[in-house]
This record gives sequence, structure tokens and C-alpha cells, in this order.
Amino acid sequence: MKTPKSRKLWRIAKEYIPGGVNSPVRAFKGVGGDPVFIKMGRGSHIYDVDGNRYIDYVLSWGPLILGHAHPAILKAIKDASRLGTSFGAPTEGEVELAKMITGIYPSMEKVRLVNSGTEAAMSAIRLARGFANRNKIIKFEGCYHGHVDSLLVQAGSGATTLGVPDSSGIPIDSVKDTITLPFNDLDSVHAACKTHGRDIACLIVEPVAGNMGVIPPKQGFLEGLREITARYNIVLIFDEVMTGFRVALGGAQELYGVKPDMTTLGKIVGGGLPVGAFGGRRDIMEKLAPTGTVYQAGTLSGNPLAVACGIATLKILSKGNVHKRLEKMSRDLSRGLKEAADKSGVKVFQTRVGSMLCLFFTEKKVVDYKTALSSDRTKYAVYFHNMLKRGVYLAPSQFEAAFLSTAHSEDDINKTIRAAQEAMRKIKA
Ligand code: PMP
Repeated sequence: MKTPKSRKLWRIAKEYIPGGVNSPVRAFKGVGGDPVFIKMGRGSHIYDVDGNRYIDYVLSWGPLILGHAHPAILKAIKDASRLGTSFGAPTEGEVELAKMITGIYPSMEKVRLVNSGTEAAMSAIRLARGFANRNKIIKFEGCYHGHVDSLLVQAGSGATTLGVPDSSGIPIDSVKDTITLPFNDLDSVHAACKTHGRDIACLIVEPVAGNMGVIPPKQGFLEGLREITARYNIVLIFDEVMTGFRVALGGAQELYGVKPDMTTLGKIVGGGLPVGAFGGRRDIMEKLAPTGTVYQAGTLSGNPLAVACGIATLKILSKGNVHKRLEKMSRDLSRGLKEAADKSGVKVFQTRVGSMLCLFFTEKKVVDYKTALSSDRTKYAVYFHNMLKRGVYLAPSQFEAAFLSTAHSEDDINKTIRAAQEAMRKIKA
């Protein structure tokens, strides 16, 4: 694999863009080496500026569930752009998308559109605090909800450790009301609520954790969260930015049958253009300006091109067998990857929920952030680079999901498994 053009661009990028990238994980720090620059995508493949072709399992970090450059999506963007690109005034498309979202997610009686998952989470937290008239929030170790000050809190020591920021530039006061607990541990939630319950505005959780690798909820975990939060009148927020429309059309709340008070969406809801959304119970959403006292706004919110792209995506996803096929392909792929590891004697722990997959390089059972950290990142880096060399583009970090799209074919899956068989042998060596 030759990458002279990528290498040249990388040198220039670092001159003008901090770290050469507009979002840190793209810099390959998690696996070493230099990133490749992508020129275009078609279906399940991306092509770099040097003409190398890769089967893509990053899919822009999840939004492209239909694959790259789907004709219906390109048409929707083209048609919408003919009418103008932004008005900052109400448009018909916003109403259509809001109706579609609330139809697919019955827990979202009303929904507000924003531009990213970060914005959705930030706004949902503010609204929950304004609604509940309480300040404290609960989040879980290893769950990511965007780079919101109060949510950028690393694992604390001890079950009810109050927040320590995960980034410089965040005043301690912004996180002093953030309680961080271990994922999948209901006892710690019980304990925190026993002490602070009447001061806690909301509990936010990725119902399937997708930002520390993929970690499914233990049986009863989400139900338990529903029960405890109801008891203390805490607003339960499911962050379905990643899982929404992916693990099922109606997200994790449909898959596991648990109804949150609020939901945040992103990624697929914009089909590859910048859209986020937050919504929930009518009484909570009506607290939002202009009907209520919680302020939230956006110059480009509900942008007509982005909304058209979202509508076109949801229409295709709503048509029946999409998730069934994704499930089958993902099952075949994960089975093949596990066999490849086993044959080479590489110890892995595999997780999958629908078309979100992960291979942890550890012998431990991964159920939370601590056990996820037991994964051998050096082995992941060897695996990643050997897959890349063989034309398979995985996330450049152990702590991310691999995604499938409807454009992935059986041939892609078989090629990926063959590449993994070779890559796993390199790990052993
Ligand atoms: N929540 C979750 C669960 C996410 O996975 C992400 C992004 N990976 C975000 C929020 C933030 O979304 P964005 O990057 O669009 O701001």
C-alpha cells in the first residue's frame, strides 16, 4: 500500500490544523502511524487520495447506515439545494422529519433538531435540569455524550466520586454536580440515589455503550435504571446518538423495551449531514423556549439540506427488512472474526449488538470501562494496521465500534474475514 499523497497532505495539515485533524481520533494516536486522506466513498468502500480502496467499517463513525453516496441521499440533497441552502425560518421538511422521528420513537412526543450529538446531549441536560429544578446528573464511566463540559468526566475512583474533568479548560465547578458510576452496575446507582436522589435532575446513559468498544447492557440494567429513576423523579435520558436507527429502527429502547423520558439522537438521523435531535415527554419538552423558560437555539438548526438527507435515510430504513439483513451480515462477520482469532490462538472477547461490533484483545469478560481497559492496545494496533494494509478500514482505536451498512455485501464480509485470518497471525508472531 503506497500513500505518498496522504503523507504529503498530512505534513501540510499539521501546519494549519491543530494536530492535523478536525476531531482527535482521526489522527491515529490510538494505533500509531499516519492517517490516510480519503477522497471518496461508494457503497461499502472508501478510496484514499492515492487510489487505495478499503472496505469501510467506520462509516463516518456510524451515520452512513446506507453506505457511501447512496443515490437516494444524493438526490435528496440535490433537490433540496435547488431551493436554497438555509433560511433560518420554519420549513416543511422540519415538520416531516419531526413527525417521522416521533412516529418511530413513541417516547419522543416532541423533538427539537440541532446540529450534532454534542448539542443534543448538552441541550437535553440543560432541559432536564430546568424541568426538574435540580442540579446533579448521573453518567457512566466510559460513556461518551459529546464534548459537553459537564459530561466530559473520566472515571472517578469509588462508586459515587463526584466529577473530575477529563480535559483542561473545564472549570471544576462545571463538573462538581456530575456523578460518575460504573456501567452495568445497578447497586452503585441505588447507592448514589439513596444519598443524592432528590438533588439529581437526570441520568444519562448510552443504552448500548459504544464509546469504550461495544458493551451491551446486562440483562435488567436498563429496566433497573427505569425503575430507580422513576422512584426518585429523575429524568432518564437514553443517548441514542449511536444506537438510534441502528440496533433497531426504534433504537435500543425498542430492542430492549425500556421507555426513557428523553432521548438524544445524531449520526443516522442526518444520514451523513449534520443533524442531532433531542426529544421526550411532552411536559418536559414544553419547558423549552419559546414555550418554556429553558433557552436553546441554533442559526442552522433544521437546515433544509440536512433535514432532506435525514428524511431520505429514515424512509429507506423504515421499509422493512433492512435491520434483519444487517443482523445476519453482522452475525456472519463477527463469527468469522472470532474464528480467525481462535485459529491463531489470539485471545479476544467479542461483543455485538446488531450492526455494532467490537473485538477486545483480552481474556477478561468486558462489561464496563475497567474491564474494557484490560484490552491489549498494542495487539489492536497490529491488527488495525494489518487490516488496513489488506484493504479493510477499521476505527483507529480499540475503544470504538465497527459498523456495517446495507451496502456491505457477502463478498465484503468474506474478504474481511480472510484479511483478519492473516492479520491475526501477525499478532501471534
Ligand atoms: N453521544 C454518543 C453516544 C456518541 O457516540 C457521540 C459521538 N460519537 C456523541 C454523543 C457526540 O456526537 P457528535 O460527535 O455528533 O457531537
